Amino acid sequence: MMGSDMRIGIIGEFENGSLSRKTYDSIFKVSQLNNALNLVIDLIVLDASEERLDSLPCDTVFVYDQIRGNDTVGRYIKAIEHYYSHCSPSMIIVCTRNDVELIVPKAATQLSSSGFLQCDAIEFDESMDKFIISKSVYGGNAQAHYSIEKTAILSFNHNQKIKEKLNAKNTSIKNIDYKCSCNNDFIANKEIDYIEEQGLEKSEFVIVCGRGIGNKAAVEEICRWAETVGAAVGGTKKVVDHGWLSIHQLIGQTGLMIAPKICLVLGASGATPFINGIIGSEKIIAVNSDLNARIFDYADIAVVEDCAVITAGLLEKLNNFIKK
Ligand SMILES: Cc1cc2nc3c(=O)[nH]c(=O)nc-3n(C[C@H](O)[C@H](O)[C@H](O)COP(=O)(O)OP(=O)(O)OC[C@H]3O[C@@H](n4cnc5c(N)ncnc54)[C@H](O)[C@@H]3O)c2cc1C
Repeated sequence: MMGSDMRIGIIGEFENGSLSRKTYDSIFKVSQLNNALNLVIDLIVLDASEERLDSLPCDTVFVYDQIRGNDTVGRYIKAIEHYYSHCSPSMIIVCTRNDVELIVPKAATQLSSSGFLQCDAIEFDESMDKFIISKSVYGGNAQAHYSIEKTAILSFNHNQKIKEKLNAKNTSIKNIDYKCSCNNDFIANKEIDYIEEQGLEKSEFVIVCGRGIGNKAAVEEICRWAETVGAAVGGTKKVVDHGWLSIHQLIGQTGLMIAPKICLVLGASGATPFINGIIGSEKIIAVNSDLNARIFDYADIAVVEDCAVITAGLLEKLNNFIKK
């Protein structure tokens, strides 16, 4: 990464003729990153008709005023997709006045990347050659640090007002002709469509992935299998925190409370906040390699087995079926 330009896109707004406080604050935070990074800061806005754009504290401003409609969240998602596919940023920071908690997870799902809400700071770790995002977790009792593999979509918490002044740059302006082709073949729309159509809360068969599934590829295999049997897929907090599923798929007291006919739980320990979200299920089938896992206290059917063995069996059956 080092040596080449690194782009950070700020999804921002203007307020009374200047940058909104959240936008200014976010630009300030990324400006503090190591100078050796050759950092390029882009500002992405939906509307800038009244504002002066040529002397902002960023390198380029992208104006997406051709994306129209009443669905503001949808307009931001389109702008983010377009900017992402054309500029390949390392990070996209959302600092709109409203709907941040909708835009971040939706954009992260659309771009198959990780979403982080209310982050405290970002830094660049030269030894790892990666960005590190810090945010408080567990109600503020702990600080988590995430190293970023690919473009992350995030928002900052804006508790402290920044007093320092940023220097204006010679900002270039790009008015985006949105009707031009948007090369977004790699954008996975499927997950969102699936959730909206099927609805985790309404599905009669839900498969919940826990940390014991092992990795994102294994979760994707489960999703493939689930689709063929008409099941919806959710995850525990650890799975969502790892970015293996989207935040819309979080099951438990912080996410969705589900009550399907069948809830198949793979590799989850059975922590109380999670159990609260599945306890209304008619039948709970739990798979865990640890005989003493707490999840078994709540399971109608307990399978003491490695998840990999179960998923391999399910996929083998599916593949045989497809071949026939
Ligand atoms: C305020 C608060 C709110 C929270 N809200 C939620 C919430 O809404 N939803 C939620 O899920 N969590 C929530 N949590 C987090 C929760 O406490 C647990 O940390 C989380 O549910 C654990 O996720 P997990 O079971 O996937 O991971 P782990 O606890 O790490 O468990 C992994 C399990 O997988 C098993 N395992 C490992 N390898 C394999 C394998 N190969 N095959 C089979 N089994 C294997 C292990 O034996 C273990 O039991 C909340 C926590 C707090 C403090």
